[in-house]
Amino acid sequence: MRYEVVVVGAGIGGLTTAALLAARGVSVCVLEKESRAGGCATPFAHGGYEFEPGAGLYACWQPDEIHARVFAELPVAPPEARRLEPAYVVRLPDMIDVRVGGASDEEFAATLCAAFPECADAAVAFYRELAPLAAALRRSARRVPALLSATKFQRMQLLASEPRHASKLRARAGDTTSAHLTNTSPRFRRFIDAQLQLCTQTTSEECAYLFAAVALTEPLRGLYELRGGVAALTDALAAAIKQCGGTIRFDTTALRLAYDQSGHAIGVDLLSGERIEATRAIVSNLTVWDTYGKLVGLKHTPPAVRARLRDAHAWGAYLIFAELDAEARAHLPAARILALTDWQAGQAYDPTSAQLMFHVAHEGATHVPADKRAVTISTFTDAAQWFAYHEDESGHEAQDQETLAAWWARLHAALPELGDQIEVRETATPRTYYEQTRRKLGMIGSIGRTPASFTAQAFTHRTTLPNLYMVGDTVFPGASLAAVTHSALIVANEIAPKR
Ligand SMILES: Cc1cc2nc3c(=O)[nH]c(=O)nc-3n(C[C@H](O)[C@H](O)[C@H](O)COP(=O)(O)OP(=O)(O)OC[C@H]3O[C@@H](n4cnc5c(N)ncnc54)[C@H](O)[C@@H]3O)c2cc1C
Repeated sequence: MRYEVVVVGAGIGGLTTAALLAARGVSVCVLEKESRAGGCATPFAHGGYEFEPGAGLYACWQPDEIHARVFAELPVAPPEARRLEPAYVVRLPDMIDVRVGGASDEEFAATLCAAFPECADAAVAFYRELAPLAAALRRSARRVPALLSATKFQRMQLLASEPRHASKLRARAGDTTSAHLTNTSPRFRRFIDAQLQLCTQTTSEECAYLFAAVALTEPLRGLYELRGGVAALTDALAAAIKQCGGTIRFDTTALRLAYDQSGHAIGVDLLSGERIEATRAIVSNLTVWDTYGKLVGLKHTPPAVRARLRDAHAWGAYLIFAELDAEARAHLPAARILALTDWQAGQAYDPTSAQLMFHVAHEGATHVPADKRAVTISTFTDAAQWFAYHEDESGHEAQDQETLAAWWARLHAALPELGDQIEVRETATPRTYYEQTRRKLGMIGSIGRTPASFTAQAFTHRTTLPNLYMVGDTVFPGASLAAVTHSALIVANEIAPKR
């Protein structure tokens, strides 16, 4: 078979790229190894229940934001998004709840002063400094979506279009977030660490200040939940591809790229032996490691790229799916609680034991009995540990049980109001993610958003092959449905710009 563009992977990144290209008149085929689309954003089905795959916090659903701009090109309606108020509550280890989002700037400043009286002015000043820079960055990314690969001329134009913020943006580009937290208390820094870890998978010590500006102000601008959950987005994108004449082939595993004699990529060879030709471009929705390791192949991967891939790291996720008595929801401060379970004073922040994200689905949101609510608890873990030391399946199960027991104890200590009204249904480990998506070591999310992410060392949508592009959460701008959608727009614009 022959298409103009072949997309490998039907995660949100692959689907969005294919939907945009198909709507722009390009003949496109998506290859997906699973029997359904969604990748990391696929709901977990267990025992008749369906659980949301993560925190269920979705950014940029305001009119005119990235999702609205993508759906404006598609022949289908976007999923219905409902603004969360608050976006979430951060529960600190001293049982103080900090509401984030769903309030005016003054109300949020008052919340910070009440929660962090020991550094109230510095905490408020930290957020006040972030807001205008984040707004300038959002405007710039709107003008030039491929911000990281912008030409020198485009960068100069962008800075010229932000005369009030240009010098600060330039001066702060190499800063870590911690450099701007020196006047704040260790309590406030942990409040920031937990949120940065959730949104950027890095802490204040490492996270680039400019990435933090965008990540920390997003919940204040508004986060959303999707009616029908994240599956509603997947279904809408798949429907758009089909309506525009595109093809999605499920249960179809891509093995490697096919090359001609001159080393030019001409298509994709499947596990089944079939070859799918691509006359214009190939798009990989696989992680950067898997794009080079599996599709491109070692022979075609330059040593410098191999070295960068070796140095790149992402976290694993450990999830607990549970059922909660419906009436217990009323005792919780919000549907989404980011619980900081330990201050970890005097040590480097270790998210694998210090924070959990608790998300209780709203009534009727998922397939559960009327008197129950589906709960997804997500935590971070070192992915590699789940692939080492196991001689057989029982080793993995023992590690799963041990991890569950530790998180169950931390959950009840952090949220004592749950009492005995919550029951475990299932868990997911990096091995589950590996089985589901084939991501290297089941690693999830983005590759650390350090200041180096603003340099030539960062992975962008471009690869070392001129007609192979990458889309997804391991390339700029990073993890989250909004970021992955942004990366899809970048790739679609490069292959077939909107007329
Ligand atoms: C625990 C958790 C919680 C999260 N919470 C949120 C949240 O609240 N809000 C938010 O916005 N984001 C959240 N995210 C992030 C978001 O879900 C991901 O960033 C996003 O779904 C990643 O999409 P992707 O397109 O990059 O790739 P993936 O989802 O990895 O999709 C890749 C696809 O490629 C397929 N594939 C792989 N190999 C092959 C092959 N050889 N041949 C064919 N197909 C192949 C896979 O099966 C998969 O379908 C969360 C993620 C996790 C893990």
